[in-house]
Amino acid sequence: MTQSRAQQRSESSGQSTSVPHEALIEVRGVTKSYQADNRTVHALQGIDMSVSRGQFVAIVGRSGCGKSTLLNLLGGLDQPTSGDMLVAGRNLATFSEADFTRYRRDVAGIVFQFFNLLPLLTVRENAALPALLAGVPRSESFERADRLLQSVGLEHRLQQQASLLSGGEQQRVAIARALINDPQLVLADEPTGNLDSQSAGGVLDALRELCRSQNKTVLMVTHSREAAAIADRIEEMRDGQFI
Ligand code: ADP
Repeated sequence: MTQSRAQQRSESSGQSTSVPHEALIEVRGVTKSYQADNRTVHALQGIDMSVSRGQFVAIVGRSGCGKSTLLNLLGGLDQPTSGDMLVAGRNLATFSEADFTRYRRDVAGIVFQFFNLLPLLTVRENAALPALLAGVPRSESFERADRLLQSVGLEHRLQQQASLLSGGEQQRVAIARALINDPQLVLADEPTGNLDSQSAGGVLDALRELCRSQNKTVLMVTHSREAAAIADRIEEMRDGQFI
C-alpha cells in the first residue's frame, strides 16, 4: 500500500485502517495466476481499484486482458493468488466457504453473457430462484420477482417458459434474478455480448435504470465502447492491469 493511498483513506474515513464509508469495493494489489499446459498465465498483475457505493463502472479491454477474471474474483467465484479485496468493509480473503455462499447469495448479484436461465422454468420462477434457495417464502419470492420483472418490462411474460423468450428478454430476466436478494453489488460479464444491437440497448437501459433506482453499485465488463458509454466511469485493462 502506498503512503498516498493510505493518506487518502485516512482523510476520508478518519482512520487509516478501515475502508472509506462511501467505498463499496477496495481492491489492493490483486494478482491471479493460472497453471495451463505447463506454463503460468498471469491473468491479473497487480490490480488496485476503489468503487464508490452507487457507482456504475465499466471495465473495458481486449479479449484475454483479465476482465472476467477480475469479475469472477469479486463475485466470489474464484480466489486471488495474492492481494486483498474488500467488499462492504469485509475482506474476502478471510471468508470461509459458508461466507462465500452467503456472499454470492446476498451481496453480489451476477449477470452472465449467456443468461444461464433454467429453460424449462417460467420467467417468474427463474427470477425468484435465488430467493427461494435463500429460504424466502414462495409468495414473497414471487412478489419480489414480479416487481423486478415489471421494472425490466417483462410483466406480460411472467408465466412463460424461459426458453421461449428472445435473447434480450432472457437477459432482462437474468437482471431481475441478479437483484432478487437485494445485493449491494451487481456484476455483469459482457451482458450484451450475445445480443443484437437493439436488444443490447434494451438490456443496458434495464440494467442502468433498475440499478440506479435501487442505488446498486455495478461493475460491468464489456469489450463494447458503446455499452461502456452508459457507465459513470470507464476503466481500461491491458495485460492484467489497469491502464
Ligand atoms: P477477458 O475477460 O478480458 O477476455 P480473462 O479474464 O477471461 O480475460 O482471461 C485472462 C487470461 O487468463 C487469458 O490469458 C486467459 O486465457 C487466462 N485464463 C482465464 N481463465 C483461465 C483458467 N481457468 N485457466 C487457465 N487460464 C485462464
